[in-house]
Amino acid sequence: MSDDDVPFRILPRINDRNRHFWTGGAEGELRFLRCQDDGTYVHPPTSRCPKCQGKNLAVEAVSGRATVHTFSINVQQWMPGPEPPYVVAIVELPEQEGLRLTTNIVNCAPDDVRIGMPVQVVFERHEDGDDVVYLPLFEPAP
Ligand SMILES: [Zn+2]
Repeated sequence: MSDDDVPFRILPRINDRNRHFWTGGAEGELRFLRCQDDGTYVHPPTSRCPKCQGKNLAVEAVSGRATVHTFSINVQQWMPGPEPPYVVAIVELPEQEGLRLTTNIVNCAPDDVRIGMPVQVVFERHEDGDDVVYLPLFEPAP
């Protein structure tokens, strides 16, 4: 996708706790914190594992695959952003039950999106001052 095609987005504020998530796309990786003691993925990023309360967390990449958990088609231009209609979806990652992201489904006609559909991550690059942010969006998996 060329820079001219990238829609305006309200971008996340990058900090030391979430940088791995928003910049992993530079290497094509969807990254989460993961507890090194019990394997729990932690999202959104926090300083402790929600399962064991441990602080032994490290950044790990996941497969980038997901399935559509639920979605809606936005037909209204509520704020500056992608041209409607577009799909706002919650996708669930196969690595852990309940590990979900709110995202957009792209490279697919909105009417073709289905619950349970396999999708894969694709990153949309944005420059924001000194930061380069890679928003994880999802497209149909081949
Ligand atoms: Zn843990």
